[in-house]
Amino acid sequence: MANNIPRVKVREQAPEERVHNFEEVCYGYNRDEALLEASRCLNCKNPSCMKACPVSIKIPLFISKLAQGDIQGAGRVIAEDSSLPAICGRVCPQENQCEGSCILGKRGEPVAIGKLERFVADTLLDMPAQSAAPAPNSTSSNQSKRIAVIGSGPSSLACAGDLAKMGYDVTIFESLHKAGGVLVYGIPEFRLPKQKIVEREIESIKALGVKIKTNIFIGKSIHIKDLMEREGFSAIFIGTGAGLPRFMNIPGESLNGVFSANEFLTRTNLMRAYLPDAETPIISGKEVCVVGGGNVAMDAARSAARLGSKVTVVYRRTEAELPARAEEVHHAKEEGIIFKTLTNPIEIIGDERGWVKGLRCQKMELGEADESGRRAPIAIEGAEEFIPTESVIMALGTAPNPVIARCTPGLATNKKGCIAIDENCATSIKGIFAGGDAVTGAATVILAMGAGRKAAAAIHNYCQQESLA
Ligand SMILES: Cc1cc2nc3c(=O)[nH]c(=O)nc-3n(C[C@H](O)[C@H](O)[C@H](O)COP(=O)(O)OP(=O)(O)OC[C@H]3O[C@@H](n4cnc5c(N)ncnc54)[C@H](O)[C@@H]3O)c2cc1C
Ligand code: SF4
Repeated sequence: MANNIPRVKVREQAPEERVHNFEEVCYGYNRDEALLEASRCLNCKNPSCMKACPVSIKIPLFISKLAQGDIQGAGRVIAEDSSLPAICGRVCPQENQCEGSCILGKRGEPVAIGKLERFVADTLLDMPAQSAAPAPNSTSSNQSKRIAVIGSGPSSLACAGDLAKMGYDVTIFESLHKAGGVLVYGIPEFRLPKQKIVEREIESIKALGVKIKTNIFIGKSIHIKDLMEREGFSAIFIGTGAGLPRFMNIPGESLNGVFSANEFLTRTNLMRAYLPDAETPIISGKEVCVVGGGNVAMDAARSAARLGSKVTVVYRRTEAELPARAEEVHHAKEEGIIFKTLTNPIEIIGDERGWVKGLRCQKMELGEADESGRRAPIAIEGAEEFIPTESVIMALGTAPNPVIARCTPGLATNKKGCIAIDENCATSIKGIFAGGDAVTGAATVILAMGAGRKAAAAIHNYCQQESLA
Protein backbone atom coordinates (compact mmCIF):
# COMPACT_ATOMS: atom_id res chain seq x y z
CA MET A 1 0.00 0.00 0.00
CA ALA A 2 1.51 3.26 -1.17
CA ASN A 3 0.26 5.19 1.86
CA ASN A 4 2.00 2.84 4.33
CA ILE A 5 5.35 4.20 3.26
CA PRO A 6 6.49 6.82 5.80
CA ARG A 7 7.23 10.33 4.45
CA VAL A 8 10.84 10.38 3.28
CA LYS A 9 12.85 12.62 5.59
CA VAL A 10 14.83 15.35 3.92
CA ARG A 11 18.51 15.75 4.78
CA GLU A 12 19.58 19.05 6.35
CA GLN A 13 22.78 20.73 7.47
CA ALA A 14 23.33 20.14 11.22
CA PRO A 15 22.31 23.19 13.31
CA GLU A 16 25.70 23.52 15.05
CA GLU A 17 27.42 23.68 11.64
CA ARG A 18 24.94 25.81 9.72
CA VAL A 19 24.77 28.57 12.32
CA HIS A 20 28.35 29.45 11.22
CA ASN A 21 27.67 29.61 7.48
CA PHE A 22 25.15 30.94 4.92
CA GLU A 23 24.91 27.73 2.89
CA GLU A 24 21.51 26.20 2.24
CA VAL A 25 20.03 24.45 5.29
CA CYS A 26 17.96 21.87 3.38
CA TYR A 27 19.77 19.55 0.96
CA GLY A 28 16.59 18.38 -0.81
CA TYR A 29 15.91 14.87 -2.09
CA ASN A 30 18.16 12.79 -4.32
CA ARG A 31 16.58 10.78 -7.18
CA ASP A 32 15.89 7.63 -5.12
CA GLU A 33 14.38 9.61 -2.25
CA ALA A 34 12.22 11.66 -4.62
CA LEU A 35 10.90 8.61 -6.47
CA LEU A 36 10.11 6.83 -3.19
CA GLU A 37 8.29 9.88 -1.81
CA ALA A 38 6.41 10.30 -5.12
CA SER A 39 5.22 6.69 -4.82
CA ARG A 40 3.29 7.65 -1.66
CA CYS A 41 0.83 9.81 -3.63
CA LEU A 42 -2.60 8.21 -4.07
CA ASN A 43 -3.21 10.08 -7.34
CA CYS A 44 -6.59 11.18 -5.99
CA LYS A 45 -9.41 11.66 -8.54
CA ASN A 46 -10.56 14.78 -6.75
CA PRO A 47 -7.23 16.12 -5.46
CA SER A 48 -7.59 18.45 -2.47
CA CYS A 49 -3.90 19.38 -2.75
CA MET A 50 -4.47 20.98 -6.15
CA LYS A 51 -7.45 23.01 -4.95
CA ALA A 52 -5.28 24.46 -2.18
CA CYS A 53 -2.51 25.51 -4.57
CA PRO A 54 -2.89 29.25 -5.36
CA VAL A 55 -1.89 28.59 -9.02
CA SER A 56 -3.56 25.15 -9.32
CA ILE A 57 -0.46 23.16 -10.28
CA LYS A 58 -1.58 19.69 -11.50
CA ILE A 59 0.02 18.06 -8.50
CA PRO A 60 -1.09 14.40 -8.88
CA LEU A 61 -0.10 14.44 -12.56
CA PHE A 62 3.40 15.78 -12.00
CA ILE A 63 3.92 13.41 -9.07
CA SER A 64 2.76 10.38 -11.07
CA LYS A 65 5.17 11.29 -13.90
CA LEU A 66 7.94 11.63 -11.35
CA ALA A 67 7.06 8.27 -9.76
CA GLN A 68 7.52 6.72 -13.22
CA GLY A 69 10.95 8.36 -13.49
CA ASP A 70 9.78 10.86 -16.17
CA ILE A 71 11.35 13.97 -14.62
CA GLN A 72 11.11 16.08 -17.78
CA GLY A 73 7.44 15.18 -18.14
CA ALA A 74 6.89 16.17 -14.49
CA GLY A 75 8.67 19.47 -15.20
CA ARG A 76 6.47 20.19 -18.22
CA VAL A 77 3.35 19.67 -16.09
CA ILE A 78 4.61 22.08 -13.40
CA ALA A 79 5.71 24.64 -16.02
CA GLU A 80 2.14 24.93 -17.31
CA ASP A 81 1.19 26.73 -14.08
CA SER A 82 4.42 27.90 -12.43
CA SER A 83 7.25 30.04 -13.79
CA LEU A 84 9.54 29.70 -10.74
CA PRO A 85 9.30 26.10 -9.45
CA ALA A 86 12.80 25.81 -7.93
CA ILE A 87 12.00 28.92 -5.88
CA CYS A 88 8.41 28.01 -4.93
CA GLY A 89 9.50 24.46 -4.04
CA ARG A 90 11.77 26.07 -1.44
CA VAL A 91 9.81 29.00 -0.02
CA CYS A 92 6.07 28.35 -0.48
CA PRO A 93 4.16 27.85 2.80
CA GLN A 94 3.15 24.33 1.66
CA GLU A 95 1.96 23.36 5.13
CA ASN A 96 -0.94 25.84 4.73
CA GLN A 97 -1.53 25.14 1.06
CA CYS A 98 -1.06 21.89 -0.95
CA GLU A 99 0.47 19.78 1.82
CA GLY A 100 -1.94 21.19 4.39
CA SER A 101 -4.79 19.76 2.29
CA CYS A 102 -3.21 16.46 1.19
CA ILE A 103 -5.51 13.56 2.07
CA LEU A 104 -2.61 11.60 3.58
CA GLY A 105 -2.19 14.35 6.15
CA LYS A 106 -5.55 13.50 7.75
CA ARG A 107 -4.19 10.33 9.34
CA GLY A 108 -0.45 10.65 8.94
CA GLU A 109 2.04 12.78 7.07
CA PRO A 110 1.17 14.54 3.78
CA VAL A 111 3.13 13.93 0.60
CA ALA A 112 6.20 16.22 0.56
CA ILE A 113 4.87 18.09 -2.50
CA GLY A 114 7.21 21.08 -2.10
CA LYS A 115 10.33 18.93 -1.87
CA LEU A 116 9.21 16.96 -4.95
CA GLU A 117 8.61 20.18 -6.91
CA ARG A 118 12.06 21.36 -5.85
CA PHE A 119 13.67 18.07 -6.93
CA VAL A 120 12.06 18.22 -10.40
CA ALA A 121 12.94 21.90 -10.89
CA ASP A 122 16.55 21.54 -9.69
CA THR A 123 17.10 18.50 -11.91
CA LEU A 124 15.83 20.40 -14.95
CA LEU A 125 17.94 23.47 -14.13
CA ASP A 126 20.93 21.12 -14.46
CA MET A 127 19.70 20.10 -17.92
CA PRO A 128 19.44 23.49 -19.73
CA ALA A 129 19.27 21.94 -23.20
CA GLN A 130 16.01 20.22 -22.34
CA SER A 131 14.05 23.03 -20.78
CA ALA A 132 10.60 22.29 -19.40
CA ALA A 133 9.24 25.62 -20.67
CA PRO A 134 6.28 25.37 -23.02
CA ALA A 135 7.03 26.35 -26.63
CA PRO A 136 6.75 30.09 -27.35
CA ASN A 137 3.45 31.12 -28.93
CA SER A 138 4.54 34.17 -30.88
CA THR A 139 2.78 36.07 -33.61
CA SER A 140 4.28 38.76 -35.76
CA SER A 141 1.83 41.41 -34.50
CA ASN A 142 2.88 40.73 -30.88
CA GLN A 143 6.56 41.05 -31.80
CA SER A 144 6.08 44.68 -32.80
CA LYS A 145 4.66 45.60 -29.37
CA ARG A 146 6.93 46.63 -26.52
CA ILE A 147 5.85 46.05 -22.92
CA ALA A 148 7.55 47.66 -19.90
CA VAL A 149 7.63 45.74 -16.60
CA ILE A 150 8.52 47.74 -13.50
CA GLY A 151 10.30 45.81 -10.75
CA SER A 152 11.90 42.39 -11.06
CA GLY A 153 10.37 40.34 -8.22
CA PRO A 154 8.36 37.16 -8.81
CA SER A 155 5.26 39.00 -10.10
CA SER A 156 7.31 40.85 -12.72
CA LEU A 157 9.41 37.85 -13.72
CA ALA A 158 6.29 35.71 -14.22
CA CYS A 159 4.52 38.47 -16.16
CA ALA A 160 7.57 39.16 -18.35
CA GLY A 161 8.18 35.45 -19.01
CA ASP A 162 4.60 34.81 -20.13
CA LEU A 163 4.52 37.91 -22.37
CA ALA A 164 7.84 36.95 -23.97
CA LYS A 165 6.45 33.47 -24.68
CA MET A 166 3.54 35.17 -26.48
CA GLY A 167 6.06 37.02 -28.64
CA TYR A 168 6.11 40.48 -27.03
CA ASP A 169 9.27 42.58 -26.77
CA VAL A 170 9.57 42.89 -22.97
CA THR A 171 11.87 45.13 -20.92
CA ILE A 172 12.09 44.92 -17.12
CA PHE A 173 13.18 48.08 -15.24
CA GLU A 174 14.62 47.45 -11.76
CA SER A 175 15.76 50.14 -9.33
CA LEU A 176 18.37 47.97 -7.58
CA HIS A 177 21.61 46.78 -9.21
CA LYS A 178 20.40 43.17 -9.25
CA ALA A 179 17.19 41.59 -10.51
CA GLY A 180 14.98 39.32 -8.37
CA GLY A 181 13.20 41.57 -5.85
CA VAL A 182 12.78 40.02 -2.40
CA LEU A 183 14.17 36.77 -3.80
CA VAL A 184 17.62 38.40 -3.91
CA TYR A 185 17.48 41.16 -1.31
CA GLY A 186 15.18 39.67 1.34
CA ILE A 187 15.09 35.89 1.60
CA PRO A 188 18.49 34.75 2.92
CA GLU A 189 20.95 32.58 1.01
CA PHE A 190 20.55 29.74 3.54
CA ARG A 191 16.88 29.36 2.50
CA LEU A 192 17.16 30.33 -1.16
CA PRO A 193 20.59 30.17 -2.85
CA LYS A 194 21.10 33.13 -5.17
CA GLN A 195 23.64 31.91 -7.78
CA LYS A 196 22.54 28.28 -7.79
CA ILE A 197 18.78 28.95 -8.02
CA VAL A 198 17.50 32.54 -8.33
CA GLU A 199 20.02 33.72 -10.94
CA ARG A 200 19.48 30.59 -13.03
CA GLU A 201 15.70 31.00 -12.97
CA ILE A 202 16.21 34.64 -14.05
CA GLU A 203 18.59 33.48 -16.81
CA SER A 204 15.88 31.15 -18.13
CA ILE A 205 13.49 34.13 -18.33
CA LYS A 206 16.16 36.18 -20.13
CA ALA A 207 16.63 33.27 -22.52
CA LEU A 208 13.03 33.89 -23.64
CA GLY A 209 14.18 37.31 -24.89
CA VAL A 210 13.28 39.46 -21.84
CA LYS A 211 15.67 42.43 -21.40
CA ILE A 212 16.49 43.53 -17.85
CA LYS A 213 17.67 47.10 -17.14
CA THR A 214 18.89 47.58 -13.57
CA ASN A 215 19.62 50.80 -11.62
CA ILE A 216 16.55 52.53 -13.11
CA PHE A 217 14.06 53.87 -10.57
CA ILE A 218 10.77 54.45 -12.38
CA GLY A 219 9.19 57.63 -11.03
CA LYS A 220 12.67 59.15 -10.44
CA SER A 221 15.03 58.14 -13.29
CA ILE A 222 12.16 58.13 -15.77
CA HIS A 223 8.40 58.61 -15.40
CA ILE A 224 5.74 56.09 -16.39
CA LYS A 225 4.17 58.66 -18.71
CA ASP A 226 7.47 58.94 -20.62
CA LEU A 227 7.72 55.16 -20.97
CA MET A 228 4.46 55.27 -22.90
CA GLU A 229 4.67 58.62 -24.67
CA ARG A 230 8.41 58.93 -25.42
CA GLU A 231 9.74 55.38 -25.29
CA GLY A 232 6.83 53.82 -27.17
CA PHE A 233 5.78 51.06 -24.77
CA SER A 234 2.28 49.79 -25.58
CA ALA A 235 1.47 48.64 -22.04
CA ILE A 236 3.06 48.60 -18.58
CA PHE A 237 3.02 46.17 -15.67
CA ILE A 238 3.81 47.55 -12.19
CA GLY A 239 5.24 44.90 -9.85
CA THR A 240 7.08 47.14 -7.42
CA GLY A 241 6.37 45.08 -4.29
CA ALA A 242 5.94 46.24 -0.71
CA GLY A 243 9.39 47.26 0.42
CA LEU A 244 8.60 50.17 2.75
CA PRO A 245 9.37 49.09 6.34
CA ARG A 246 7.14 49.91 9.31
CA PHE A 247 8.50 51.12 12.64
CA MET A 248 6.94 51.22 16.13
CA ASN A 249 7.22 54.98 16.60
CA ILE A 250 8.74 54.55 20.04
CA PRO A 251 11.53 56.74 21.49
CA GLY A 252 15.05 55.74 20.45
CA GLU A 253 14.31 54.39 16.95
CA SER A 254 16.83 56.79 15.38
CA LEU A 255 19.75 55.55 17.54
CA ASN A 256 22.76 53.90 15.89
CA GLY A 257 22.21 50.15 15.84
CA VAL A 258 18.50 50.24 14.98
CA PHE A 259 17.70 48.65 11.61
CA SER A 260 14.58 47.77 9.70
CA ALA A 261 14.62 44.06 8.80
CA ASN A 262 14.63 45.17 5.15
CA GLU A 263 17.83 47.16 5.56
CA PHE A 264 19.49 44.45 7.64
CA LEU A 265 18.58 41.68 5.19
CA THR A 266 19.45 43.77 2.11
CA ARG A 267 22.88 44.55 3.50
CA THR A 268 23.41 40.92 4.44
CA ASN A 269 21.96 39.21 1.34
CA LEU A 270 22.35 41.63 -1.53
CA MET A 271 25.52 43.36 -0.38
CA ARG A 272 26.92 40.06 0.99
CA ALA A 273 27.93 41.75 4.26
CA TYR A 274 28.76 38.33 5.70
CA LEU A 275 31.80 37.89 3.44
CA PRO A 276 35.12 38.95 5.04
CA ASP A 277 35.93 41.29 2.10
CA ALA A 278 32.45 42.86 1.85
CA GLU A 279 32.55 46.50 0.70
CA THR A 280 29.61 47.40 2.97
CA PRO A 281 30.10 45.40 6.18
CA ILE A 282 27.37 45.38 8.81
CA ILE A 283 27.83 45.92 12.55
CA SER A 284 25.15 43.97 14.35
CA GLY A 285 26.80 43.62 17.76
CA LYS A 286 27.26 40.76 20.22
CA GLU A 287 23.63 40.89 21.28
CA VAL A 288 20.75 41.55 18.90
CA CYS A 289 17.01 41.87 19.52
CA VAL A 290 14.62 41.24 16.64
CA VAL A 291 11.15 42.71 17.18
CA GLY A 292 8.31 40.80 15.48
CA GLY A 293 7.25 37.19 14.96
CA GLY A 294 6.79 36.63 11.23
CA ASN A 295 8.96 34.97 8.60
CA VAL A 296 10.88 38.19 8.05
CA ALA A 297 11.72 38.27 11.79
CA MET A 298 12.96 34.65 11.59
CA ASP A 299 15.11 35.47 8.54
CA ALA A 300 16.63 38.50 10.28
CA ALA A 301 17.22 36.55 13.53
CA ARG A 302 18.83 33.58 11.80
CA SER A 303 21.00 35.89 9.65
CA ALA A 304 22.18 37.81 12.74
CA ALA A 305 23.04 34.49 14.44
CA ARG A 306 25.18 33.59 11.43
CA LEU A 307 26.99 36.93 11.77
CA GLY A 308 28.00 35.78 15.28
CA SER A 309 25.39 37.54 17.47
CA LYS A 310 23.39 36.17 20.37
CA VAL A 311 19.83 36.76 19.15
CA THR A 312 16.57 37.29 21.02
CA VAL A 313 13.22 37.52 19.23
CA VAL A 314 10.91 39.89 21.13
CA TYR A 315 7.22 39.22 20.46
CA ARG A 316 4.16 40.68 22.14
CA ARG A 317 1.91 37.58 21.99
CA THR A 318 2.74 33.94 22.83
CA GLU A 319 4.48 31.34 20.71
CA ALA A 320 1.10 29.91 19.65
CA GLU A 321 0.32 33.18 17.82
CA LEU A 322 3.68 33.52 16.04
CA PRO A 323 2.81 34.21 12.38
CA ALA A 324 6.07 32.65 11.10
CA ARG A 325 6.03 29.20 9.48
CA ALA A 326 6.42 26.41 12.07
CA GLU A 327 9.45 25.10 10.12
CA GLU A 328 11.19 28.48 10.38
CA VAL A 329 10.55 28.74 14.14
CA HIS A 330 11.82 25.18 14.58
CA HIS A 331 14.99 25.94 12.59
CA ALA A 332 15.51 29.19 14.51
CA LYS A 333 15.28 27.38 17.86
CA GLU A 334 17.67 24.67 16.67
CA GLU A 335 20.10 27.49 15.83
CA GLY A 336 19.96 28.88 19.37
CA ILE A 337 17.62 31.86 18.86
CA ILE A 338 15.96 32.87 22.16
CA PHE A 339 12.22 33.71 22.10
CA LYS A 340 10.99 36.30 24.58
CA THR A 341 7.21 36.29 24.21
CA LEU A 342 4.50 38.45 25.86
CA THR A 343 7.04 41.26 25.71
CA ASN A 344 6.54 44.57 23.87
CA PRO A 345 9.29 47.21 23.42
CA ILE A 346 8.31 50.69 24.61
CA GLU A 347 11.66 52.48 24.35
CA ILE A 348 15.10 51.89 22.88
CA ILE A 349 17.74 53.14 25.31
CA GLY A 350 21.00 54.60 23.98
CA ASP A 351 24.41 55.33 25.48
CA GLU A 352 26.10 58.75 25.58
CA ARG A 353 27.52 58.21 22.03
CA GLY A 354 24.09 57.56 20.54
CA TRP A 355 24.41 53.78 20.20
CA VAL A 356 21.78 51.30 21.35
CA LYS A 357 22.40 49.73 24.74
CA GLY A 358 19.07 48.12 25.54
CA LEU A 359 15.33 47.72 25.07
CA ARG A 360 12.82 48.82 27.69
CA CYS A 361 9.88 46.45 27.38
CA GLN A 362 6.35 46.17 28.71
CA LYS A 363 5.25 42.71 29.87
CA MET A 364 1.96 41.59 28.29
CA GLU A 365 -0.83 39.07 28.79
CA LEU A 366 -3.44 37.79 26.35
CA GLY A 367 -7.00 39.09 26.35
CA GLU A 368 -9.98 38.47 24.05
CA ALA A 369 -9.53 37.76 20.35
CA ASP A 370 -9.05 40.87 18.17
CA GLU A 371 -10.03 41.47 14.52
CA SER A 372 -7.13 39.22 13.38
CA GLY A 373 -8.81 36.32 15.21
CA ARG A 374 -5.83 35.99 17.58
CA ARG A 375 -5.99 36.84 21.28
CA ALA A 376 -4.98 40.47 21.75
CA PRO A 377 -1.91 41.38 23.85
CA ILE A 378 -2.73 43.59 26.86
CA ALA A 379 -0.16 45.44 28.97
CA ILE A 380 0.34 44.24 32.57
CA GLU A 381 0.45 47.48 34.50
CA GLY A 382 3.78 48.19 36.18
CA ALA A 383 5.48 45.08 34.73
CA GLU A 384 8.55 46.12 32.73
CA GLU A 385 11.77 44.44 31.68
CA PHE A 386 15.10 45.79 30.40
CA ILE A 387 16.86 43.68 27.77
CA PRO A 388 20.50 44.67 27.15
CA THR A 389 21.29 44.69 23.41
CA GLU A 390 23.62 46.41 20.94
CA SER A 391 21.25 46.25 17.97
CA VAL A 392 17.52 46.24 17.38
CA ILE A 393 16.03 44.92 14.14
CA MET A 394 12.42 45.95 13.51
CA ALA A 395 10.52 43.25 11.60
CA LEU A 396 6.98 44.61 11.84
CA GLY A 397 5.78 44.29 8.27
CA THR A 398 6.02 46.47 5.19
CA ALA A 399 3.84 48.61 2.91
CA PRO A 400 4.12 49.44 -0.81
CA ASN A 401 6.77 52.02 -1.65
CA PRO A 402 4.76 55.23 -2.31
CA VAL A 403 7.14 56.75 -4.90
CA ILE A 404 5.57 55.28 -8.02
CA ALA A 405 2.02 56.34 -7.04
CA ARG A 406 3.17 59.84 -6.00
CA CYS A 407 5.02 60.34 -9.29
CA THR A 408 2.20 59.04 -11.50
CA PRO A 409 -0.78 61.43 -11.52
CA GLY A 410 -4.07 59.55 -11.84
CA LEU A 411 -2.76 56.21 -10.52
CA ALA A 412 -5.35 55.25 -7.88
CA THR A 413 -4.33 53.60 -4.61
CA ASN A 414 -6.36 52.36 -1.63
CA LYS A 415 -6.20 53.48 2.03
CA LYS A 416 -3.17 51.25 2.66
CA GLY A 417 -1.24 52.75 -0.26
CA CYS A 418 -1.69 49.62 -2.42
CA ILE A 419 -2.26 50.17 -6.16
CA ALA A 420 -5.96 49.71 -6.98
CA ILE A 421 -6.79 47.31 -9.84
CA ASP A 422 -9.94 45.81 -11.36
CA GLU A 423 -10.63 42.10 -12.00
CA ASN A 424 -8.46 42.30 -15.14
CA CYS A 425 -5.43 43.62 -13.23
CA ALA A 426 -5.98 47.05 -14.90
CA THR A 427 -5.14 50.18 -12.89
CA SER A 428 -6.98 53.49 -13.14
CA ILE A 429 -4.73 54.48 -16.09
CA LYS A 430 -5.38 52.94 -19.51
CA GLY A 431 -2.67 50.49 -20.57
CA ILE A 432 -1.16 50.21 -17.07
CA PHE A 433 -1.58 46.96 -15.15
CA ALA A 434 -0.33 45.92 -11.71
CA GLY A 435 0.05 42.87 -9.46
CA GLY A 436 1.93 41.24 -6.59
CA ASP A 437 2.68 42.87 -3.23
CA ALA A 438 2.25 46.38 -4.71
CA VAL A 439 -1.47 45.52 -5.01
CA THR A 440 -2.07 43.10 -2.11
CA GLY A 441 0.45 44.37 0.44
CA ALA A 442 3.08 41.91 1.73
CA ALA A 443 2.01 38.37 0.70
CA THR A 444 3.79 35.36 -0.80
CA VAL A 445 5.96 34.45 -3.78
CA ILE A 446 3.37 32.15 -5.32
CA LEU A 447 0.58 34.72 -5.05
CA ALA A 448 2.84 37.33 -6.65
CA MET A 449 3.80 34.91 -9.41
CA GLY A 450 0.13 34.02 -10.02
CA ALA A 451 -0.77 37.73 -10.17
CA GLY A 452 2.00 38.36 -12.71
CA ARG A 453 0.74 35.56 -14.94
CA LYS A 454 -2.86 36.79 -14.72
CA ALA A 455 -1.70 40.29 -15.64
CA ALA A 456 0.26 38.95 -18.62
CA ALA A 457 -2.93 37.38 -20.00
CA ALA A 458 -4.81 40.67 -19.41
CA ILE A 459 -2.07 42.71 -21.12
CA HIS A 460 -2.19 40.35 -24.11
CA ASN A 461 -5.96 40.80 -24.29
CA TYR A 462 -5.58 44.58 -24.07
CA CYS A 463 -2.95 44.68 -26.84
CA GLN A 464 -5.10 42.51 -29.12
CA GLN A 465 -8.09 44.82 -28.61
CA GLU A 466 -5.96 47.93 -29.22
CA SER A 467 -4.73 46.40 -32.50
CA LEU A 468 -8.31 45.94 -33.64
CA ALA A 469 -9.41 49.44 -32.57
C1 LIG B 1 12.58 38.72 4.32
C2 LIG B 1 11.41 38.17 3.55
C3 LIG B 1 11.17 36.81 3.57
C4 LIG B 1 10.10 36.28 2.85
N1 LIG B 1 9.92 34.93 2.86
C5 LIG B 1 8.94 34.38 2.09
C6 LIG B 1 8.77 32.98 2.02
O1 LIG B 1 9.46 32.22 2.66
N2 LIG B 1 7.77 32.50 1.24
C7 LIG B 1 6.97 33.31 0.49
O2 LIG B 1 6.13 32.80 -0.26
N3 LIG B 1 7.09 34.66 0.56
C8 LIG B 1 8.07 35.21 1.33
N4 LIG B 1 8.19 36.57 1.40
C9 LIG B 1 7.26 37.42 0.63
C10 LIG B 1 7.60 37.42 -0.88
O3 LIG B 1 8.99 37.48 -1.08
C11 LIG B 1 6.90 38.55 -1.58
O4 LIG B 1 5.50 38.38 -1.38
C12 LIG B 1 7.20 38.59 -3.09
O5 LIG B 1 8.57 38.70 -3.34
C13 LIG B 1 6.45 39.74 -3.76
O6 LIG B 1 6.81 39.79 -5.11
P1 LIG B 1 6.63 41.11 -5.98
O7 LIG B 1 7.03 40.75 -7.36
O8 LIG B 1 5.28 41.67 -5.77
O9 LIG B 1 7.64 42.19 -5.37
P2 LIG B 1 9.14 42.18 -4.82
O10 LIG B 1 9.71 40.82 -4.70
O11 LIG B 1 9.11 43.03 -3.62
O12 LIG B 1 9.92 42.94 -5.98
C14 LIG B 1 9.67 44.28 -6.27
C15 LIG B 1 10.86 44.86 -7.02
O13 LIG B 1 10.51 46.13 -7.54
C16 LIG B 1 11.61 47.00 -7.40
N5 LIG B 1 11.07 48.37 -7.42
C17 LIG B 1 10.31 48.97 -6.46
N6 LIG B 1 9.97 50.22 -6.87
C18 LIG B 1 10.54 50.39 -8.10
C19 LIG B 1 10.54 51.47 -9.03
N7 LIG B 1 9.88 52.60 -8.76
N8 LIG B 1 11.25 51.32 -10.19
C20 LIG B 1 11.90 50.16 -10.47
N9 LIG B 1 11.92 49.12 -9.61
C21 LIG B 1 11.24 49.23 -8.45
C22 LIG B 1 12.21 46.60 -6.06
O14 LIG B 1 13.57 47.03 -5.97
C23 LIG B 1 12.08 45.09 -6.14
O15 LIG B 1 13.21 44.50 -6.76
C24 LIG B 1 9.23 37.14 2.12
C25 LIG B 1 9.45 38.53 2.16
C26 LIG B 1 10.53 39.04 2.85
C27 LIG B 1 10.74 40.54 2.87
S1 SF4 C 1 -4.07 14.97 -1.97
FE1 SF4 C 1 -2.07 14.03 -1.47
S2 SF4 C 1 -2.31 11.91 -2.07
FE2 SF4 C 1 -3.98 12.99 -3.09
S3 SF4 C 1 -3.18 13.58 -5.12
FE3 SF4 C 1 -2.70 15.28 -3.74
S4 SF4 C 1 -0.60 14.84 -3.01
FE4 SF4 C 1 -1.42 12.90 -3.87
